[in-house]
Amino acid sequence: MESTEALLTYAQSIGCVCRQNEPMRDHITFKVGGPADLFLQPTDPDQCAAILRFCHANAVALCVLGGGSNVIVHDFGIRGAVLSTAGLNDIELLAGCRVRCGAGVKLSRLCAFALEQSLTGLEFAWGIPGTVGGAVFMNAGAYDGCVKQVLESSDHITPEGEAETWPAEKLKLGYRTSVYQKNGCLITGAVFHLSPGSQQTIRDTMDELMDRRRAKQPLEYPSAGSTFKRPEGHFAGALIEQCGLKGARVGGAQVSEKHAGFIINADHATSSDLLMLIEKVQHTVFDQTGVPLECEVRVLK
Ligand SMILES: Cc1cc2nc3c(=O)[nH]c(=O)nc-3n(C[C@H](O)[C@H](O)[C@H](O)COP(=O)(O)OP(=O)(O)OC[C@H]3O[C@@H](n4cnc5c(N)ncnc54)[C@H](O)[C@@H]3O)c2cc1C
Repeated sequence: MESTEALLTYAQSIGCVCRQNEPMRDHITFKVGGPADLFLQPTDPDQCAAILRFCHANAVALCVLGGGSNVIVHDFGIRGAVLSTAGLNDIELLAGCRVRCGAGVKLSRLCAFALEQSLTGLEFAWGIPGTVGGAVFMNAGAYDGCVKQVLESSDHITPEGEAETWPAEKLKLGYRTSVYQKNGCLITGAVFHLSPGSQQTIRDTMDELMDRRRAKQPLEYPSAGSTFKRPEGHFAGALIEQCGLKGARVGGAQVSEKHAGFIINADHATSSDLLMLIEKVQHTVFDQTGVPLECEVRVLK
């Protein structure tokens, strides 16, 4: 607690937006979670670097929040500091059909920008909530596309506070994974390389993919998208359905009736409800089929 207060004083001194006891449910798409002791929203990479240096020097724990579309926060909240990337929101067209953007830029905004510039390559990302930083961290993807296919490089700050730029080849981008899930760096921005395209075709593809999402996914409920990674040779949703878990509930959390791969906040669920239901699904599916389901959603702490 003392160290969080020292961080608050320091962050205020460098002009960073700071709030105490921030309700995290307002920042995550599952709409669950208690308050964070300290919520920081730096506006540029220099502020980020200064905060990380301070945290490193003073052994203060810090967790990073993007769009909150792939995380759960415990009901008791976060005893420490959260850094939100929402203030890193610049977007810029570079020569050669490339786009540079801050980590806090929403994927929807990036896709709309690419459409406006008649640049193709990001259509797959239309409809994936969250930010550029979260998408690089997760190597987000859908409908045969993923971040790896269009990422040129990413900018990050190391846990010691050093700014670096790494080419995409160095990021170990794989199915819903990247080097950032291990190295503790804060992604501050990224450059995407796209190709010239027909605006009408890009728009049509985006519309078609959005229609497919609306038809299949329970978008009317708070969720974090697919709860589990796709196990090799299987589909998580099909396994869950096969085990009779469609509609299964713990408290206000429910396995979606529309798409069994989604756990939803059906009715004022708590984080504990969601976490218990996730565990129940994992145990049942493993017992009945022998297939382990790895949770894609991460607990922010
Ligand atoms: C309705 C719905 C549909 C979805 N569909 C898809 C889909 O089709 N494909 C798909 O891949 N995902 C999908 N998702 C999941 C989610 O949108 C993606 O995983 C997204 O990339 C997460 O980005 P975010 O900014 O919300 O990250 P957050 O949820 O905020 O964070 C996720 C993780 O990334 C870390 N992180 C975030 N930003 C940074 C940063 N700048 N630096 C370092 N670490 C960071 C966080 O600490 C956390 O561990 C869906 C979610 C919902 C709710």
